This record gives sequence, C-alpha cells and structure tokens, in this order.
Amino acid sequence: MRRPGRWGLAVLLTAVAIGARLHAEQKPGMFGDLKDVTLRGKVVSLNDEMAQKYGANIAAGAVKQWGLASPEGQLYSFLETDAYRKLVAANLAGKAVEVEAHLIPRSMLLEMTSFKPLPQTAIERRYFCDICTLYADDWGPCVCCGKELLPLTDGK
Ligand SMILES: [Zn+2]
Repeated sequence: MRRPGRWGLAVLLTAVAIGARLHAEQKPGMFGDLKDVTLRGKVVSLNDEMAQKYGANIAAGAVKQWGLASPEGQLYSFLETDAYRKLVAANLAGKAVEVEAHLIPRSMLLEMTSFKPLPQTAIERRYFCDICTLYADDWGPCVCCGKELLPLTDGK
C-alpha cells in the first residue's frame, strides 16, 4: 500500500477535522440509540416518593433528586443539565410538565434540554387494582393488597 504523501496527509487531517465538526452537530444520530423524546409527567422528589410508596431507606439529609413520573406510571430520572437546574429552580414539585430530552439507551435516564409547565389536567389519570376493584388517583402499590396499580387509559 502507498503511504500518503505530504499533501495526502494534509487532506486526510482536514477530512478528520470536518468529521469531528459533523460529529458535534449531528448529536442524536451519532450516539447509537440515543432518542429525542417529548414526555409529559409530574415532577417528583425521587427519594421522598420512593420512601413513601416503596419503603426506600433514604439517608438522613439526602439531597433532593427530582424525577418525572409519567401518567402511565413510568419513572424517569434526570442527568444534571442546565435545563434540570432550571427545573429545580422553578420549584415545580408535584406539578405537570412537558420535557424535551434525549433518552439514554437501555435506561430511564433523561438528558433534558428544555421543559414547560402544563395544566395539571394534562396528566391526570386513574389507576386501578384488579384484585380489590379499587381506584386511585396516583400510581404505586395498592393500599389494600400491595399489588402495583394499573393505569387506566380512558379516564375511568
Ligand atoms: Zn389491591
């Protein structure tokens, strides 16, 4: 194989530089299965919520970590981006939001890029225990039998 001459090398390096710039601009497509997502849900304190619903043993004085609880009962956590810091500063505990984010492959981790508040009615759901025939306004284990509640898609 012929080695690249002086000019050949310069062309090669330029091509590498252009490649690097494209890499930065084409962020989502260039990182495997990283997905752009728009998600709606409630801003929840993960530590408080998991302690209350699932008995998670949280250390005293733990820093609050905020997550997103979707109306379907999915839980997402956030990487600490600028948008995340704005969300924390906006004091939206328990409030409905819509977030734009990159969903990290094989996880429920969101790299949030922006968010906007929503009316609370946008994420309201009823949840149901099919063993106790019991309805609830929030996801989590059934207060009666402990089985995970199922979200109802059509209100009630
Ligand atoms: Zn039940």
